[in-house]
Amino acid sequence: MFRLATKLVTTLGAAVALGVIGAPIASATVSEAPADGAVDSAAEVMPAAAPAWSYTIQPSCGGWESPIRTGANYWGGASEGGGTPVQCQNSAITDCGFKNEPVHGLTKDGRLIVVGCNYGMGQLIKLFPGAVNDPALLAAHEFGHNWYGHSYNGCASWASPTDVMATTMC
Ligand SMILES: [Zn+2]
Repeated sequence: MFRLATKLVTTLGAAVALGVIGAPIASATVSEAPADGAVDSAAEVMPAAAPAWSYTIQPSCGGWESPIRTGANYWGGASEGGGTPVQCQNSAITDCGFKNEPVHGLTKDGRLIVVGCNYGMGQLIKLFPGAVNDPALLAAHEFGHNWYGHSYNGCASWASPTDVMATTMC
């Protein structure tokens, strides 16, 4: 019992350090984090996403298939067919509710718009790939929401899984 409590505390500490606060505590992402040893790099969170998963690029994403695949492959273990449907549109996403996970993009005139949304952690992803400089990064971010919440408020980048999960496409 004591060991279990210690492991739980250590695991929670690791989750906070990794910035996956938005992920449910009961999810595999958190519960499978190694309790021994230092979990101080975001890369060590990645094996939790390694189990096989899948997605399907919808016809609305015609022309964007390559960056979407790049984004999916970032997490590993992905195959196409079934799984999360990925839709694309040429306007801001306006129905990404509070419980979903938007990634924001700043338009040239300074308005904040939603350029990606993951509904229900993998039930549906919507992208506005034409609005961002790096549509593959946008796709990687949204696929990441199948397991992870946002890491911090700031510009997303490829530097690490934590950076991919930042809130803003800059
Ligand atoms: Zn997001």
